[in-house]
Amino acid sequence: MAADDTIFALSTAPGRAGIAVIRVSGLGAQSALTEICGSMAADPPRTARRAFLRDPLSGERLDDGIVLLFIGPKSFTGEDVVEFHVHGGRAVVAGVLGVLGRLPSMRLAEPGEFTRRAFENGKLDLTEAEGLADLIDAETESQRALALRHMGGALRRAAEGWRSDIIAAQALAEAAIDFSDEADVGAQALAQARQVAHRLVHTLRSELGDQNRGEILRDGFRVVVAGRPNAGKSSLINRLAGRDAVIVSDEAGTTRDIVELHLNLEGRRVIIADTAGIREAEGKVELEGIRRGLAYARTAHLVLWVVDAMAFDFKLPSDLLEIQIPVLMVINKCDLAPTDVVRRLGFEARYISATTGDGVDVLVEDISKFAAERTEGGTGALIALARHREALHKAERGLLDFLCIDDHDAEIGAEHLRSASAALGKLTGRIDVEEVLGAIFGRFCIGK
Ligand code: GDP
Repeated sequence: MAADDTIFALSTAPGRAGIAVIRVSGLGAQSALTEICGSMAADPPRTARRAFLRDPLSGERLDDGIVLLFIGPKSFTGEDVVEFHVHGGRAVVAGVLGVLGRLPSMRLAEPGEFTRRAFENGKLDLTEAEGLADLIDAETESQRALALRHMGGALRRAAEGWRSDIIAAQALAEAAIDFSDEADVGAQALAQARQVAHRLVHTLRSELGDQNRGEILRDGFRVVVAGRPNAGKSSLINRLAGRDAVIVSDEAGTTRDIVELHLNLEGRRVIIADTAGIREAEGKVELEGIRRGLAYARTAHLVLWVVDAMAFDFKLPSDLLEIQIPVLMVINKCDLAPTDVVRRLGFEARYISATTGDGVDVLVEDISKFAAERTEGGTGALIALARHREALHKAERGLLDFLCIDDHDAEIGAEHLRSASAALGKLTGRIDVEEVLGAIFGRFCIGK
């Protein structure tokens, strides 16, 4: 894939729309603009101009639109960029794309290629590119806020700061190697490097000990609805969804697959999953469902244990008690049992009726509170992805290894610091990242 190719793509969603934006980036962008719209359209840059778009071969008019020229490096990709804002009709878009495709050295962009060029031209680092991808995918306010923080460079700035401190410590360790003949000087340099490393370990630990707030904000607070067959889990899920999301069935154990429901609760993404009836009973058909249900419950942040009020079985299964996850008992079918009778049993529980909807609003508020507790507090989360966490862990490991060395092992110590700084360099994409580029930019759609 030649980097001097000029790339183009429809950057807005495909299909019929009010307007569509077609973006062009590369050396040929300016000439594409003048070919299609005439030389006036390019002047001055960064100014919206109204222009007629024409097929340069036939002279046929394609649309009456707005065009914008950004001259590199002051553009999204760092290259010359042109945006054609046209009417979003299929024939208009197809006409403009067709004309662009016929121009020399011009080709359709790969998914994420505009952003990849921006990365390669130093306009953003990997964490900012990930933030941008997340922003495009964001469905809730909190996902949007987190993505904006990353896109705005919150993690990049932190990682760059840590990395430059590690590099400073590395320089001190290397000075200790150079001055190994002068024990005092060497020991002093190492002592200073250790101070830096100590401080950084402390900082990284506090980021890593964030209870996965960022990941939960990004990927959702996971709630598992579990309970014995016929307790009313599917009915509750349906009630929560406000629509028929899952099949409600009278037959015990028919909900064998895990059904997920995505909710936006007070701006937070909450994923509610209906599991097959988790129960201790034997029974071949159900065992697989139960196994999967329990495995799923282990990945949850909250378990709703649904109980049939009429079954009077309020004991949590031992498997659930072992999992270190908050469990909220939900006593369902309260329309059948007089609530005061059930309440008198004195269980700490939420009382609902999935059929009438009684108590469900309060339950939703409770779920929302649990989600808020897990995602708020401390300073804003910096870690949003497993890749981020892994990099910080590796950096911490390198620093800890460095702190374990003796004074006469400065050389080995410097190597540990190098691996710590390399981990952070990979995080931002400053070094050696070829293997992660495909994964990150492949997430984008064409045109971004
Ligand atoms: P699951 O196996 O736990 O998913 O249970 P279902 O949601 O399939 O419900 C089992 C049966 O109980 C169905 O016949 C439902 O209509 C009924 N049911 C569920 N919730 C309630 C409720 O709150 N009140 C009453 N009266 N019936 C309910």
